[in-house]
Amino acid sequence: MKILLSGATGQVGWELARTLLPIGEVVEVNRTQADLADLKALRGIIQQYKPNVIINPAAYTAVDKAETEQEQAFLINAEAPGVLAEEAKKIGALLVQYSTDYVFDGTKSTPYTEDDATNPVNVYGQSKLAGEQAIQSVACDYLILRTSWVYAGRGNNFLKTILRLAAEREELKIVADQIGAPTWARLIAETTAHIVRQAMLERQVNNFNSSVYHLTSSGDTSWHGFAEKIVKIVREQGKLALKNRTIHPIPTTGYPLPAKRPANSRLSTSRLEQQFGLTLPSWDNALRLCMQELD
Ligand code: NDP
Repeated sequence: MKILLSGATGQVGWELARTLLPIGEVVEVNRTQADLADLKALRGIIQQYKPNVIINPAAYTAVDKAETEQEQAFLINAEAPGVLAEEAKKIGALLVQYSTDYVFDGTKSTPYTEDDATNPVNVYGQSKLAGEQAIQSVACDYLILRTSWVYAGRGNNFLKTILRLAAEREELKIVADQIGAPTWARLIAETTAHIVRQAMLERQVNNFNSSVYHLTSSGDTSWHGFAEKIVKIVREQGKLALKNRTIHPIPTTGYPLPAKRPANSRLSTSRLEQQFGLTLPSWDNALRLCMQELD
């Protein structure tokens, strides 16, 4: 099985380049070989490699910058996945696309299911939703995996930011009124490998249904709770000297950003767990395992 993988320099793509190894021959295409903003070149790459599976974690992920770079965000997050879907359909490949909790407005009081109405509150969320819709309208075989609050031991993310700030500052102020599930990039990548393998077996016997799935850790917390847990684990590990003494909870209004964020980012993962027979681990268990690998 030949797997074409974009975005292998990103958090999820880097992990995918490793977790996909046992299920097929992985061909990585980075920005130089396939710039998602160059739709013609993108078509050429698919036609050249003719993969059985296209996995696309590459995306325009700068949530705040997207507010002023709308055109670029839509080109990469909406038009490019549409082109990948068209090319996948031509060659009978499976397309795996990642999407986000930010397709929802966060006003629901319980976790969102895949069937809940979408209503993104920022440009990034709008562009990612448009990407989902582009794939669905082409109707190739696809898996759209919506995740949330991604972190990893490498790259720029909340975990790395808190580790840095907690080493430098005695006091931190972190938003406490947005709720979601921090999700380790490796969990996303390992789950992807399992479900792609099953999906390919289902396709062989004409028993595959394209669908949207929610893929996050289980449980939930606020950004404040996430930060407190990071600091607690660092202290238990005793690996890093921290100046931090207090993390103050603040409301979203106390940390204004260009892009609005949903207050409720919780995604129900029951559909994925039932369909693929998987159990997603709690966010704090996965965080502890991720942090064991940090220097
Ligand atoms: P990262 O920001 O870590 O990585 C993005 C990747 O996309 C990088 O490899 C980057 O390459 C590549 N990329 C960006 N623009 C282009 C382009 N024009 N052409 C080719 N490659 C490009 O993303 P994550 O791993 O965090 O996210 C993976 C997926 O999960 C994305 O679809 C994202 O929307 C989704 N998601 C992420 C969340 C998060 O909290 N991070 C939350 C919810 C969903 P380069 O290194 O060259 O810039």
